[in-house]
Amino acid sequence: MIKVIVSHDVDHLFARDHWFRDLIYPKMWVRTTLQLIRREITGREWFLRNTSCFRKNRHNIEALMEFDRKHGITSTFFFGMSKGLGMSYKPEEAAETIRKVKENGFSVGVHGIDFQDDGNMQKEYETFKETAGFPPDGIRMHYVRFDDSTFEKLSHTGYAFDSTEFNKQDNGTRKNPYKVGVMWEFPLTIMDGYLPQQYEKAKQKTLELLRECKDKQLDYISVLFHDYQFCDDYKDIREWYMWLIQYFSDSHDYDFTSYRDAIRQLESSGNK
Ligand SMILES: [Zn+2]
Repeated sequence: MIKVIVSHDVDHLFARDHWFRDLIYPKMWVRTTLQLIRREITGREWFLRNTSCFRKNRHNIEALMEFDRKHGITSTFFFGMSKGLGMSYKPEEAAETIRKVKENGFSVGVHGIDFQDDGNMQKEYETFKETAGFPPDGIRMHYVRFDDSTFEKLSHTGYAFDSTEFNKQDNGTRKNPYKVGVMWEFPLTIMDGYLPQQYEKAKQKTLELLRECKDKQLDYISVLFHDYQFCDDYKDIREWYMWLIQYFSDSHDYDFTSYRDAIRQLESSGNK
């Protein structure tokens, strides 16, 4: 039985996050137009993505919470406490959403920006605590950035877990969780952005990766789906996510868990 941990990185909150703060929209106009010419997206998706800057929300957290809850998944949502690489909302702008996610029984953590400077890492941790009114459950770095000392530094920061280790060449890292000091590192097994962006191809690639997990007899796998894609703008990849969750639900080989419950189980089975 493989335990599946589902997580969501909240890269965007509101459309106004990016007004005069970064170049997300101009870049998106260029990218989506090229994608349309190459027939990688439909005209409707082109339209929806390019008018998304006028909508209130860029996140789809509520719809995703409802979907996950229906499937009995206590997923984890990671929120940015610092700006960078197209993540441009301020901590205070996230406060209400963080509390809502927590009140709904889901797990919440930090979507980290600094992966090298201990001082800034600590600051993001403390900012979350002050903003939310409770400590973060764990962390994942934005753009899964890390170096040789990132996990060691994070282990001194107060996080119970990190879920950043990700091999971009291999479409993820298929490896069991392991301990770094007092912190657990849960390598990221499958990420939406590192799959083909067409539904059928994404599905085939995922099945291939899951076969590898089975061959390696993994006990835990971590899945990342970005909540901003849980809408008509990103039809194929949203359908991939819905298919994947259904696939896990229907199979006797998989069971859902959360980072917190996984840690409890790992610690109680003597992996201290
Ligand atoms: Zn991110």
